[in-house]
Amino acid sequence: MPTIFTRIINGEIPCYKIAEDKNFFAFLDINPLKPGHTLVIPKKEVDYIFNVDETTLSLMLPFCKKVAEAIKKAIPCSRIGVTVIGLEVPHAHIHLIPISVMSDMNFANPKLSLSRETMTQTASAIRTFIPNDLL
Ligand code: AMP
Repeated sequence: MPTIFTRIINGEIPCYKIAEDKNFFAFLDINPLKPGHTLVIPKKEVDYIFNVDETTLSLMLPFCKKVAEAIKKAIPCSRIGVTVIGLEVPHAHIHLIPISVMSDMNFANPKLSLSRETMTQTASAIRTFIPNDLL
């Protein structure tokens, strides 16, 4: 059975899309730690990040960099934090989180539940800075 993230890639489940190329897809985390919290996933469905093949892995960070640069331009923050957890959804993903203090990255913090309007506006603000070939 496909993961919820594969179903998002296939358009069966809605998401706030940020960027896409032939290998990867980026979209807002539905329950972000901070507004602009984005997930980057390989289109190829693999559960554990270190089971992703090396070619795909080597391309994943450059894709994340383009997305992170766009988040940084759109969302006031000091840096974009990068982490992998993977305990909830069995489809490898990298979290990109706009942070200003260490505690912004604490996954024990309560997650946010933002309005559809805020999520739409946030995604649209980030997409403004995404290169055209990734839209
Ligand atoms: P983890 O697998 O522990 O790295 O966490 C999975 C992340 O996916 C969590 O931060 C969830 O909020 C997020 N998530 C789960 N379902 C969706 C969805 N349908 N759309 C966007 N984000 C999701």
